[in-house]
Amino acid sequence: MNALLRGLKRREKEIVRLLGEFVRCESPSHEKAAVDRMGRIVAREWRRRARVRILRQKQAGNHVRAEVWLGEGRPAGQILILGHLDTVYPLGTLAKIPLRSANRRLWGPGIFDMKAGLVLALFAVDALRAAGLRPRKRLVFLWNSDEEIGSQSSRGEIEREAKRSDAVLVLEPAYGRDGCLKTARKGVGTAELIVTGRSAHAGIDPSAGVNAVHELALQIARLMKMNDRRRGITVQATVVAGGTTSNVVPEHARAMVDIRYSHLADAPAIDRRLRSLRPILKGARVEMRGGVNRPPLERTHGVIRLFEHARELMNELGLSLDEASTGGGSDGNFTGALGVPTLDGLGAVGNGAHSPSEHVVTRSLAERAALIAGLLASL
Ligand SMILES: [Zn+2]
Repeated sequence: MNALLRGLKRREKEIVRLLGEFVRCESPSHEKAAVDRMGRIVAREWRRRARVRILRQKQAGNHVRAEVWLGEGRPAGQILILGHLDTVYPLGTLAKIPLRSANRRLWGPGIFDMKAGLVLALFAVDALRAAGLRPRKRLVFLWNSDEEIGSQSSRGEIEREAKRSDAVLVLEPAYGRDGCLKTARKGVGTAELIVTGRSAHAGIDPSAGVNAVHELALQIARLMKMNDRRRGITVQATVVAGGTTSNVVPEHARAMVDIRYSHLADAPAIDRRLRSLRPILKGARVEMRGGVNRPPLERTHGVIRLFEHARELMNELGLSLDEASTGGGSDGNFTGALGVPTLDGLGAVGNGAHSPSEHVVTRSLAERAALIAGLLASL
């Protein structure tokens, strides 16, 4: 581990330079042309190191798959490494929040979640080669274009590769300032509640109307009852809209609903309750779309074993490593639910994901790349 880290520290400037290039290529999930450009840059880097396949998509951005086999003869299995090309920032964000370096940190949109992870994987593979290490297993890197919007177009491929794999490493950002790995993640759902009433003049003929905003408010109050702190269930209305103008009884209203849950076993009951909403006001109609999407990543024995192994590798460097659970979901939720041991949060140490203060700690880059390389070499 020490040799791996020494080699990677010597390459810190190159790591920072490539990370800068990745961040400067804006890649919001919904902009296919932009996220495809990001995919091309990433594929260019991998072609020097691996067999690369572009998984073309009609609407979503393309995904990139890179396969590395550094051993001799036949691989003893497969390790899947996951990460995403997309960010939550619309095009033009970089003009407002430029890439910069200050206080031994690098700042920029998407740098922490998770362009740093993409860069670390490349340098981890280089470090294996430089050290002459030969992993026993085939390494498959899958970079998808739509993680931030639910991975609809990539979930199938992620699950197919996961089923062939003995372990999954997710290069999403680390947790907290100490860089904890994520050994448990909540499951996630997104739903949309659509309410239809009847419009009328708010002053002249209010009784002819059915107020969709009032109905929505009552439904949201009902949804709030689903929150269950003990079971780790949260249900929150996050975006609401309704009405047209001040003197009109609104005909339409809608709310986006964010759902989080800790236990896979709770998913059917949550979905059933979402579907069973009935109108409260006479004449109103309610419709619920969506529901639970990502299953929770549960802290199984396999996950704990992977984490303990990672901790030993960091200890060899004289560094500590802890674990944490988080309410945020990732593609590791899908692979964990298939029963494949999944270790998440292996990306850079930093903070401020999805916010103007997004940054990574520069020193952590080489350390995390060494950890990833160590895992790839020894799993
Ligand atoms: Zn992410």
